[in-house]
Amino acid sequence: MGHIQKIGVTGLGGLERIKTYIIKTGDHIFGLALPCWSWTGTIDDRNRPRIKIDGNVLIVRRALYQLNGVPLEEGDKIISLCRNKACLRPEHLVIGTDRDAFLMGRMQCMGPGDIYVMQEMFKKGEIKLHHIEDCYDVTRPVAEAVVAEGGLIKRSLPMYSGQFS
Ligand SMILES: [Zn+2]
Repeated sequence: MGHIQKIGVTGLGGLERIKTYIIKTGDHIFGLALPCWSWTGTIDDRNRPRIKIDGNVLIVRRALYQLNGVPLEEGDKIISLCRNKACLRPEHLVIGTDRDAFLMGRMQCMGPGDIYVMQEMFKKGEIKLHHIEDCYDVTRPVAEAVVAEGGLIKRSLPMYSGQFS
């Protein structure tokens, strides 16, 4: 569940440690504009990157948002466009609802191929953000993340910074 992680006062040191486990030249999923960022550290039994900081075991994706000053509410889900559970690339991640997570995750309603087609259509002006929301039943942040990944718009909603230093 999307519980709130406690980040201690040594949070910035935690960010430095997390950074040492991220490789910025990960897999390039066909259909996505940008390659994934891979995690070389420990993963949990659900294949999620995790790290122990100050005695607390943290889910790395959530920690990256929190350490970058992006608050996560109870129930916020972090969804990956690339379906790579270990990807930490900010452009591939978006904060969504339970339903977004269900549709994008378990239901696999939107794959990288769909994202490619939507980016191409958006670029030509053939669709707008609300078409993506309506056709896939996802929220605006997910629709924005889809076109922003192709560099077609700037995201207006919180994204953690990939600038680590
Ligand atoms: Zn990715």
